[in-house]
Formats: sequence, structure tokens, C-alpha cells
Amino acid sequence: MKFRYCTECAAPLEQRDATEYVCANGHEYWNEPHASACVAVLRDGQVLLARRGIEPRKGKYVLPGGFVEFDETPYEAARREMREETGLDCPELDLLEVHTIRYRENEASLSVVFHARHWKGEPTAGDDAAALVWRPVEFVETDEFAWHIPNLADRLRALTG
Ligand SMILES: [Zn+2]
Repeated sequence: MKFRYCTECAAPLEQRDATEYVCANGHEYWNEPHASACVAVLRDGQVLLARRGIEPRKGKYVLPGGFVEFDETPYEAARREMREETGLDCPELDLLEVHTIRYRENEASLSVVFHARHWKGEPTAGDDAAALVWRPVEFVETDEFAWHIPNLADRLRALTG
């Protein structure tokens, strides 16, 4: 994200360094990663993936999830996104991994990855998910997976035994 004008006083912003902006009246802004949450649902050694219906990386596969809203915890965001994108109810989430995804040239997301210890329902694609597929956990290491997440395949393998 490129910040151009101050939202407090509308003065032009000057970029101090890679992440920090300031206006002539001293209002400061930081281009920080946006928090997101996603969930690994496993069944018979396979992981549930969503095909992205929107850019960036439209057509590639991701763990279902999305951005954390202002008044949500990452756990609440993960459960909401799972309901919206997969129709699944995921009452018990275990923290699996935290990492940073650079999803555009100047935009990043701090991504919290959960494992759904229990889940209910039949997967039905909705919202930003164009389709849902089951894939062997090794799929997350291929180029068809939208973002490289270090350790993800190992963590999923450990969960599938
Ligand atoms: Zn200002």
C-alpha cells in the first residue's frame, strides 16, 4: 500500500523509510502487515484448500481464511471466514504457525494459521473461494499453492501422522 495523503488533515505524506510516512503536521502512518487468519482442515491425509476467486493470485490455492476485522480476535476471524468460505463450523482451533505473506509489491499480511481439531459440516464454497478441493498435504509446497508458508507441509504431515 502506498500512502499519499494524511487522513487527519489531508496534507501530502512524506515517506520516511520503507514503512513509515509523516505529514507536515506530524501525523504518522505505518505500512504494517494486515492480520489474517486461515485454517487447515484435514481428512484422510488430505488438506482442504480454496481456489482463489479474486486477485492477487486468482486461480491458485490457499488455506481458507481472510483478514481479521477490527473487533475480532484471530480465532473469531478464522471461524467466521470458515463459515463464509466453506460452510464448516470449526469450534476448536489450535495455533499451528504464524508467518508473513507478501501478497503485493508493497503489501503484506501477518498470517495466523490454525488447525481445526474438530469441524462439522460438508464443505461448500462461498465468498472469495471459487471452489474447494481436497489435496495431499504435499500440495502446499507446489507452485499451485498461492503463498509459500515455511514449515507448513511439515506441520500438516505431523498432524496427519
Ligand atoms: Zn496530517
